[in-house]
Amino acid sequence: MDQIVNKTLLQSTCDSSEDAIAVLNPATNEVLAYIPSVPTEGIVGQIEKSKKAQKAWQERSASERSIILKRWYDLVVENSDDLARIMTLEQGKPLQEAKGEVMYGASFIQWFAEEAKRTYGDTIPSPTSNKRLMTIKQPVGVAAAITPWNFPIAMITRKAAPALAAGCSFIIKPANQTPLSAYAVAELAYQAGVPRDLLIVVNNHSSVSVGDILCTHNDIKKLSFTGSTQVGSHLLKQTAETIKKTSMELGGNAPFIVFDDADIDAAVKGAVASKFRNAGQTCVCANRFYVQETVYDEFVKKFAAAVSEMKVGNGTEPGVEIGPLIDAKAKDSVLSYIETAKSQGAKVILGGEDLGGLFVSPTILTEVTQDMDIVQTELFGPIAPIIRFKDDDELVIKANDTIYGLASYFYTNKLNRAFTIAEKLEYGMVGINEGIISNEVAPFGGVKQSGFGREGAKQGIDEYLNIKYLCFGGF
Ligand code: NAP
Repeated sequence: MDQIVNKTLLQSTCDSSEDAIAVLNPATNEVLAYIPSVPTEGIVGQIEKSKKAQKAWQERSASERSIILKRWYDLVVENSDDLARIMTLEQGKPLQEAKGEVMYGASFIQWFAEEAKRTYGDTIPSPTSNKRLMTIKQPVGVAAAITPWNFPIAMITRKAAPALAAGCSFIIKPANQTPLSAYAVAELAYQAGVPRDLLIVVNNHSSVSVGDILCTHNDIKKLSFTGSTQVGSHLLKQTAETIKKTSMELGGNAPFIVFDDADIDAAVKGAVASKFRNAGQTCVCANRFYVQETVYDEFVKKFAAAVSEMKVGNGTEPGVEIGPLIDAKAKDSVLSYIETAKSQGAKVILGGEDLGGLFVSPTILTEVTQDMDIVQTELFGPIAPIIRFKDDDELVIKANDTIYGLASYFYTNKLNRAFTIAEKLEYGMVGINEGIISNEVAPFGGVKQSGFGREGAKQGIDEYLNIKYLCFGGF
């Protein structure tokens, strides 16, 4: 823990004990810190405190809430170097990428500090002359979130900021593998003036127990989940019992398409950025590449040349672009996907090596066909399978052939093709001649089994608001 400069950010850590949860550095396997495992009765007590805090917070004006959120944003930016270091140590992503995530995470706080003041209702022309109709928007109440390890700050701020802006209280269950970033960013919220009971971070050895409480407690009115489709489906069933408002940001299987008229150099640049960010462990990572047959060889050659330059290592070392995978299970899965693809006829033209520890070399597979397992699997690792296609109709069928519908990407310079393909892709988000698409002003979210609900943008705050319809009679 000596490598972490600002220890005040981590006041919630504790000494090692039977109950404490150890947080490991995936690059070295060293224990970084311990955090408390809150017993289930403790979590119920926190929900009660959160409910009280929410009532008081709701009474504060939108501009007061906005000022506190802006202060939180400023503190996150001021402490961005320390936050990035904490993130790299517990998550593994290279320091520069971690800094990028901190700033991306901060952007949601800034955006929703402004949106707090814009939760407009409507006035509605009445169908009869003796009535006046309008709507107002009100906070849902206590909101809760369960978040994954791959974006330890951004997946929290893009939920917590709109919740607080809307007037909700917020309880977060971050992944047990990356809780330090969550505690650190919450500490900055407290310093900014967010009451401690309004923003609560909880972990327990058993995520299932925390999930059970957050999904079934009647005082929790909203559950926002980011994680796998499998867990999301389970949580949805649990929330059905108390009819909670929910949003689900789930898995992806993004196609990255290169048409014959594309700028191949731009496509290669976009492909590297989209595929290898966070060692391939993002829900919007390009998961399978479709390249039109006439430009296949050129793309593969240039892509392989660019990827072969990427440095793998401990994210704290300068120049590293690909860090470790999160744990041994993730590494075993990635290596097994490569082996299965090989056994089904794919060719490894780059990488495919176990580099020791939790490191795997960036891997490119060619001669991949649509029937291989790798095409239907969310890889969550640095593997790029490349498939050939002949024409647009064939491409659309193949690209949509998945249960997922989060992000998709394609490169073309033909205007008509750009519109047509964008309309035909069954995904919540489409990058056109662009490999990095997410920002605070755009509505992030998926369709099909990638979930529902939108984060960021003008829509993001609505996830934490109820519409109330008022009908004034007697005119
Ligand atoms: P995960 O296994 O679903 O875990 C996500 C969170 O859920 C963690 O906090 C985890 O806790 C908790 N959890 C796991 N099982 C639970 C249960 N039965 N009840 C309650 N909580 C439970 O996903 P992951 O492997 O961490 O993350 C990768 C997945 O997230 C990928 O599928 C990826 O595509 C998806 N993702 C989606 C988005 C998006 O915006 N759509 C963004 C990022 C990631 P512990 O880890 O502490 O056990």
